[in-house]
Amino acid sequence: MLNSKDIRKDFPMLDGKTLMHGKPLIYFDNGATTLKPQCVIDAVCEYLSSYSGNAHRGDYDLSHQVDVAYEEAREVVQHFIHAKRKEEVVFTSGATDSLNLIANGYAKTHLKAGDEILLNVAEHASNTLPWFDVAEETGAVVKYIELDEEGRMTLENVKKAVTENTKIISLAIVTNVLGYEVPIKEITEYAHSKGIIVVADGAQSVPHIVTDVVRDDVDFLAFSGHKMCGPTGVGVLYGKYELLEETKPTRFGGGSNSRYNSCGLVTLKEPPYKFEAGTPHIEGVIGLGAAVKYLQSIGMENIRKRELELRHYAIEKMSQLDNVTVYNPNSEGAIAFNIKDVFAQDAASLFNTYGIAVRAGEHCAKILDEFLKVRTTCRVSFYFYNTEEEIDQFIEACKKGDDFLD
Ligand code: PLP
Repeated sequence: MLNSKDIRKDFPMLDGKTLMHGKPLIYFDNGATTLKPQCVIDAVCEYLSSYSGNAHRGDYDLSHQVDVAYEEAREVVQHFIHAKRKEEVVFTSGATDSLNLIANGYAKTHLKAGDEILLNVAEHASNTLPWFDVAEETGAVVKYIELDEEGRMTLENVKKAVTENTKIISLAIVTNVLGYEVPIKEITEYAHSKGIIVVADGAQSVPHIVTDVVRDDVDFLAFSGHKMCGPTGVGVLYGKYELLEETKPTRFGGGSNSRYNSCGLVTLKEPPYKFEAGTPHIEGVIGLGAAVKYLQSIGMENIRKRELELRHYAIEKMSQLDNVTVYNPNSEGAIAFNIKDVFAQDAASLFNTYGIAVRAGEHCAKILDEFLKVRTTCRVSFYFYNTEEEIDQFIEACKKGDDFLD
């Protein structure tokens, strides 16, 4: 059982003194990015203030200290996602960067004209646009797995969409607007029986649920540090080692090669180092390591349970409001809703006047309107530090939504 009062003390921005529109901040936009606990801020500051050398380059103590901290963060992430080897953890700038690396470095060298890539309309732009680009360059075709009536992705619908040409299925384990969790283990099992590679976008799942890449047998997994209490500008690409060996780096430069000569003959390092050319985001990686340790200290099962409690509480209250339409009452993630007859961005600015941060718009999922039949929505996305009291204030603000209609 999480003690919200104690947890909230870990987050400087939840001290009641951080104001938005003159009111104590109520932060319900965790799907966009999360707040940072003091231990992450301290880890980043400590690197910057006490041992700010480069990584993997120096032969002196300070540099060695950085190497140890950087590689320790890799091991922390490895254990967090239950990867077999730390070499399967590549540091990137975020989920978008990781997905682009798979698309450019793996898919473009493995796909040919007529091959099929399966997505669905609920995917984030970062798990859609890289595949459009792969299709354009290789002649492969992007197709969509149908969602069920509620907006869930089912194994049945995956099976219906797969053909003998399907080579890649790329899907978010939890999508960022509808928030349904996909049956990833069943999907990978089926896909692998057909020789299909499964790319998992974990941007909205890794921060919230236990991630086990071996249990789920995903081939690649992408996620971002800033959506899980870590710094911005850092993320992870997990890949099965043998697939990373087959993946071509998309950036070249210092740190990623063992030797090269003037004729252009290059010997790249083994994964993950062949993907990490240039000085990495060292403080980001160290901060991400601290964030993962912090989440582990709370326990991912506890986090999940608390978030589901909050979601359930909010849905119960929202369903009692005549002026609110909820589009995904039964999902496990974000809540997508509208105040009836109020433009989503107007509603968000109303919430803002109550100090409540709510996302509004298309949420980088610009073809989801084909399913929702509405172009823009508001979205609240909770994290384990949110409370029922905050939800009560949000509900009071929802009731004021009718003021827009006067
Ligand atoms: N995938 C999903 C499902 C997301 O929600 C997001 C961000 O909101 C991304 C990918 C991209 O993450 P980032 O902007 O951190 O690269």
